[in-house]
Amino acid sequence: MATHILILGGGAAGILSALKLSTIKSRYDLEVTLVDPKSYFEYTPGIISVLGTRLDELEKRFEAITQAYETLLPSWGIKFVQGEVEEVNDSEVILTSQTHLAYTYLIVATGSSYPFPFKPTTTQLTYAERLEALRADRASLEAAERVLCVGLGPVGVEMVGELVGTKQLTVVHGGTEVLPRLGGEKFGNKVLSVLKKNHAHVILGEKAEEQPSADGQSTRAFVTDKTHQRLEAEKVYISNGLLPNTRCLVRNYAASLNRGFVRVNEYFQIPGHEKIFCIGDIIDIDEEKLYFTAHMQAVHLFKNLSAILAARSAGQEPTLAPYPGVRLAVVLSIGPSRGITYIDPLVSMVGFGRGSLLAGVMKWCIEKITMEPSIKMWINEGLYFVQKHRTLKAKLD
Ligand SMILES: Cc1cc2nc3c(=O)[nH]c(=O)nc-3n(C[C@H](O)[C@H](O)[C@H](O)COP(=O)(O)OP(=O)(O)OC[C@H]3O[C@@H](n4cnc5c(N)ncnc54)[C@H](O)[C@@H]3O)c2cc1C
Repeated sequence: MATHILILGGGAAGILSALKLSTIKSRYDLEVTLVDPKSYFEYTPGIISVLGTRLDELEKRFEAITQAYETLLPSWGIKFVQGEVEEVNDSEVILTSQTHLAYTYLIVATGSSYPFPFKPTTTQLTYAERLEALRADRASLEAAERVLCVGLGPVGVEMVGELVGTKQLTVVHGGTEVLPRLGGEKFGNKVLSVLKKNHAHVILGEKAEEQPSADGQSTRAFVTDKTHQRLEAEKVYISNGLLPNTRCLVRNYAASLNRGFVRVNEYFQIPGHEKIFCIGDIIDIDEEKLYFTAHMQAVHLFKNLSAILAARSAGQEPTLAPYPGVRLAVVLSIGPSRGITYIDPLVSMVGFGRGSLLAGVMKWCIEKITMEPSIKMWINEGLYFVQKHRTLKAKLD
């Protein structure tokens, strides 16, 4: 009888898991199914460049970072079900359509929500709907004179990178430092110097709260909480944190949730529910929520699942490896051709002027690799190998 592996979520972690499992499908008689409410894969780190692209080139740019699941997955022997998971229990998941899907092993990779336009809303489940919404968003940016960005985390930094020098820009950030956990002072200072050189108004260490605006329509107004500055803009981007998509776990696994994030053991299992694995943005571990970490977790989980399947077919107990964690590697864009890169602990590229050209090229290469399934699989396997040995070595030193 076939073993059913069900994957919830077709983002970074879910897609890589599906692709990796497709390589051992026939060896262990697997049926692999991926569920997602959308009909298309969207490469999230590429979306900010879509937002910054001219209207007449937007569709081409958006097309480059998306793939229809129905085209991508069946060609790897993976079944796709479009739907939103409402509830998970120890043997099946239930979609909002009331469809029940049974599983032998479950991978929950439902990621996180971010305000529009950074992630699709529930009314942008098809490629056409999302494209139309992005076009409208871009048109409203083009019409705006003043732009307000709330939040200077990695997403906010990439967004202001697209905007500096083109608009009257105000940035409010709750922290007193920028990107303190990614690349240290050098990274944050670089971002601030780019903003300063381009005459952006930057407010650090304050929160901005929305107020009724004067004209009620074309502008939005915010007031900061300490110096009470009133900020008005025709266009506002909010990127002040993510919300884990774990509503489907609330009914049966509430005790395993911490502020919405899932507590997992070192094998990514929900303790006491060993057939359910959770990876990516939804998990409560001390690791940055990044595409790179989601990919590394997916490769690690694949290795443990392979061990489980091999042991099962030999009638033995599996030996699982604990997740070693990875050292930080992050590339952020600052506009269309430049960026900043930090690869812990050796490489830090911030460049001159608006950032490093080399980091911009790296960002472009990562996108190309991610959009090409077979290359993505092998590159991530290689990165995992390097990370595993670096992490083990660091622990031994
Ligand atoms: C704008 C932006 C830019 C970013 N840039 C970078 C970057 O440059 N570098 C970097 O390393 N990281 C970046 N990140 C972070 C990175 O995108 C995430 O950490 C990563 O995508 C997490 O992967 P994931 O698989 O956990 O979740 P996601 O990639 O978010 O995928 C989750 C999937 O689950 C689906 N889903 C949601 N709810 C359900 C449900 N109930 N049932 C079924 N499916 C569901 C969603 O539709 C989605 O397809 C960025 C994030 C944002 C928002």
